Amino acid sequence: MNQPPQRSLHDLSFAEMERELCAGGVSTHHAKALWRVLHFHGELNPAARDNLSPPLQRWLANSVGQGKGFFLDAPEVVQESHSSDGLTRKFLLRLRDGHSVETVLMGYDYRHTACVSTQVGCAMGCVFCATGQMGFGRHLRPGEIIAQVLHARRVLLATHPQHRLRNLVLMGMGEPLHNYDAVMQALDAISNVRGINIGPSKISISTVGVVPGILRLAAEARPYRLAVSLHGSTEAERSALVPVSGKWNLAELIAACRSYGATTGKRIFFEWTLIAGHNDSPDTAARLAELLRGIDAHINLIPLNPTSGFGGTPSTAGHAFQRILQAAGFPCTFRQRRGIDVAAGCGQLQAAARA
Ligand code: SAH
Ligand code: SF4
Repeated sequence: MNQPPQRSLHDLSFAEMERELCAGGVSTHHAKALWRVLHFHGELNPAARDNLSPPLQRWLANSVGQGKGFFLDAPEVVQESHSSDGLTRKFLLRLRDGHSVETVLMGYDYRHTACVSTQVGCAMGCVFCATGQMGFGRHLRPGEIIAQVLHARRVLLATHPQHRLRNLVLMGMGEPLHNYDAVMQALDAISNVRGINIGPSKISISTVGVVPGILRLAAEARPYRLAVSLHGSTEAERSALVPVSGKWNLAELIAACRSYGATTGKRIFFEWTLIAGHNDSPDTAARLAELLRGIDAHINLIPLNPTSGFGGTPSTAGHAFQRILQAAGFPCTFRQRRGIDVAAGCGQLQAAARA
């Protein structure tokens, strides 16, 4: 007889957890305790906790493990690197099927941010990006996204027990809006006050510009911050770096951003990786200011992290570029690339591990 496939306990929403307990003959009021053990304590061996009620302990013993209905997402660290200033720690985590993804923990003063992946590889093919150069592997499940945040929090607890993980950015490997449902389910769990409890306004979704996804975020009134990776001020400039611009062109993308801003009243963060001779001229800066006119926008300039599959070099004209945007009235800052010495660019740890 065929066994139903195993599921991850971390893939269950709270309502599904209640249903599963109920189906196993356990009262649904035990769901809160189970949720807390998994998402608040981040326990990797919940059955070993001695303060659980006997029905829950029995359910865990019967339901979790080899040959049983559920498993836990507990990715294994296969590689780890720290920046020389100790503020950035990057992990290559191996998933159950052998694929691996990158998770980064960044800390500055009391602010700690986790940067997690949403896919194995990426289908969008941005020419300067190590993940894009790898191609698409598969989507991550909600549990695999949640498990990365739990890992970052565990590391933080071990190194800075008095600090909290307060910020999350979806800027690791993959395109979050290409994996919309799993990402939203993961973020619901991660922002849940009885669990990891990162405030929704401290969670940033970074997208290459998946127009239907941006419109859906607005229609569903998702409470997260939106960052849009733009990189080009004309269709030609952008599509040379971001091939997916052929599918959702610059005009459509900017229209979607205007509509998002009007519907949600929220600021949009625009990411701009500065590449010498590609997108760093004063004319480009002026065109960008014109393009974004009327949008409540903050522009983040990112110095290019060189990758083996792209010949471009970092720009040296960043400050002039910044001044033009600021003079046009836009907040414009450089994204701090602390820990560039740990190959902090997305996908670069994995690319190095494969080489
Ligand atoms: N797919 C999403 C999120 C992951 S990439 C997106 O594209 O927005 C996160 C950010 O890192 C993006 O702004 C991307 O353009 C930038 N990035 C990727 N590779 C880079 C590199 N080699 N140097 C500098 N920035 C890079
Ligand atoms: Fe994918 Fe983002 Fe990299 Fe583009 S920059 S290939 S969308 S991960």
